[in-house]
Amino acid sequence: MIYFDNAATTAVSPAVVESMLPWFTEKFGNPSSIFYTIGAEAGKGIDEAREWIAEAIGCEKTELFFTGSGSEADNWAVKGTALKSGKKHIITSAIEHHAILHTCAFLEKQGYRVTYLPVNEKGLVSPADLEAEICEDTALVSIMLANNEIGTIQPIKELAEIAHKKGVLFHTDAVQAVGAIPVDVKELGVDMLSMSAHKFHGPKGIGALYIRKGLRPVQLIHGGGQERNMRAGTENTAYIVGMARAITDAVKNMEENSARISRLRDKLIEGVLSAVPETILNGDRENRLPGNANFSFRYIEGESLLLRLSLAGFAASSGSACASASLDPSHVLLAIGLPHEIAHGSLRISLGTENTEEEVDRFLQVLPPIVETLRQMSPLYENK
Ligand SMILES: *Cc1c(COP(=O)(O)O)cnc(C)c1O
Repeated sequence: MIYFDNAATTAVSPAVVESMLPWFTEKFGNPSSIFYTIGAEAGKGIDEAREWIAEAIGCEKTELFFTGSGSEADNWAVKGTALKSGKKHIITSAIEHHAILHTCAFLEKQGYRVTYLPVNEKGLVSPADLEAEICEDTALVSIMLANNEIGTIQPIKELAEIAHKKGVLFHTDAVQAVGAIPVDVKELGVDMLSMSAHKFHGPKGIGALYIRKGLRPVQLIHGGGQERNMRAGTENTAYIVGMARAITDAVKNMEENSARISRLRDKLIEGVLSAVPETILNGDRENRLPGNANFSFRYIEGESLLLRLSLAGFAASSGSACASASLDPSHVLLAIGLPHEIAHGSLRISLGTENTEEEVDRFLQVLPPIVETLRQMSPLYENK
């Protein structure tokens, strides 16, 4: 199988697996049990991991809090800030991940008002729109750094400045960005930032929320005093260590990987656009994640395309893994202005560190005849 779905998840790298193993067996102690060696050892392991991760995103280790996923980090930032502030208005964008959108929908049911900023055809939020929507009652602005479906990278620094000018806190979901492009919380000027290890060759089920010093969103998980009394639950030492190893490797090799992966992406985009007529590249041609390509092929269904690609040995996505169980077209593609029938014929390719030029070449051979076959079967194509 050729894996082109790295935005959904990535394989845990062998170095990460190796870094985790001792923490399941000989060093299994509870990090809170500081009076014997394996407990204290686990505490030190977590401390060191926190330092590595903090360094990778430019914060202090006391500003980094581990969570059970990127989704939990997003929930915490939004609910925790809303509950803390007493204000009743939240601003986000129409193209956020469901971890943000469904959290906002939940808060709407609790009486909060949520503004979903529109995006342009490239998927960009307008700073002027943000400025116009902020009011006295705004508790938080949450806008993602890079989109998981179309790869668009937002001008977060500029957006955060606008929020701060009006005294409003700013959170960014950086789950797709961390490990793929440089992310520095001080440079971005954000108050909170979410990340998740399994998007950069770490394990699933471990994430983190950066919380700027001095801020204290309401705690969501109550119990023991872990994570400086901010998030209860015995720490998952092995996964935390694995996350630290994964981010350190990603940052160390970022320049090289990102140059190579964007070259492959550009070859793929040019190849697809020139070989398949009536195809749209979704998102921004330049300003996108190194590994992301997202196409709409007129007259066909994304699901039929995925099935045929799967038979040909390719794993890809029709937009968002979370949405693909439903028949609704992706909210992101609708938000960039695609009509329903075109949004339905979409394909997301997300390349990662493991992909090769031969795989891209193979894809460029396989894809055009599949699209042509599906179009021949489509009544829409016949009548065009
Ligand atoms: C994957 C993803 C999440 C959710 O992270 P999990 O660790 O899978 O819960 C949130 N936001 C974005 C943009 C993502 O790509």
